[in-house]
Amino acid sequence: MSTAIPSSAPATYRCACCGGDRKAGEHLARERMYGDDISFRYAECADCGTLQLLDPPADMGWYYREPYISWQEVPAYVDQRLSAFSRLLRGWRFADRLGRFNPVGRIARHAFGEPEFPFPLTWFEHSKAGPGARIFDFGCGSARVLKYLRYNGYRHLHGHDRYMRKQTSLPGLELTAEIPSRLAAQCDLVMAHHSLEHLDRPFEGVQELKRLLKPGATLLIRVPVAQSHAWRQYGTSWVQLDAPRHQVLPSEQGMRRMLERAGLSLTRVDYDSSAFQFVGSEQYLLDIPLFDPQRSFVAGHNPDLFSAKQRADWAQLAQRLNEQGDGDQACFYARLS
Ligand SMILES: [Zn+2]
Repeated sequence: MSTAIPSSAPATYRCACCGGDRKAGEHLARERMYGDDISFRYAECADCGTLQLLDPPADMGWYYREPYISWQEVPAYVDQRLSAFSRLLRGWRFADRLGRFNPVGRIARHAFGEPEFPFPLTWFEHSKAGPGARIFDFGCGSARVLKYLRYNGYRHLHGHDRYMRKQTSLPGLELTAEIPSRLAAQCDLVMAHHSLEHLDRPFEGVQELKRLLKPGATLLIRVPVAQSHAWRQYGTSWVQLDAPRHQVLPSEQGMRRMLERAGLSLTRVDYDSSAFQFVGSEQYLLDIPLFDPQRSFVAGHNPDLFSAKQRADWAQLAQRLNEQGDGDQACFYARLS
């Protein structure tokens, strides 16, 4: 679907990812999560294909109001205080699950079952970040990933979110609205799960995250990927364009160039898109906001909008696109060059 609009008068444009100064064109995208009747201009980089918001609203905080989905809480038992012994045992069990043989952890797996962790273990396998690792999560929202890591025995966890509602400190977990300066060169794994695309200057963001890495540590960045199948199919109805919250949507090439410019080497890319790219985008084609209180399938109010068969087909297609490196989001792993 072509959504290109004629380019406006040339201003000082610079691609936030590759640094190029040539636009392939501009796109007009509506706010569609809440259904606010307002549109935003995005530039497409002629060099790397990255999409970039040109006219951010002054009141960006308004676009993260309830029921913004990053604020989902964990179940109460995940937040519970654990005894030192329980944390140690859970850590051993998780380490064994990650393939670092731990005899006591192996017994715990048999006795108590596998660790409850509703996220991919590959993030921690590829980064080699076991329960003793110091982990920083940039733009952590309500810190679901960190809270589940803590529940599984991780002991050195730090989360940051500029829209953090309350500062929290649990044993082993610190959540702050600022990045603590004492973490410079202290982290084994720095993660940004769908947060970098919310920045107007992601290159500066990557440089800031790089400063937290120990030698040999991993930077893990998950972002929507511009120029992927879903963008080509749906254009500005692509659900992960998400104007105006997503200010810069890098292409794979844009990510590569941005990491290189920051002095980092890309070591691995895993595409991890889901049926959501189709469910959400098809819902937008029907002009139904994500949070529509009656008609939204995604928000759970209209379960008959898409059939089970249709959703299964989309899930299969998403898997195929991931294998082809054409899903609408990916996990990028990088190290210091
Ligand atoms: Zn570019």
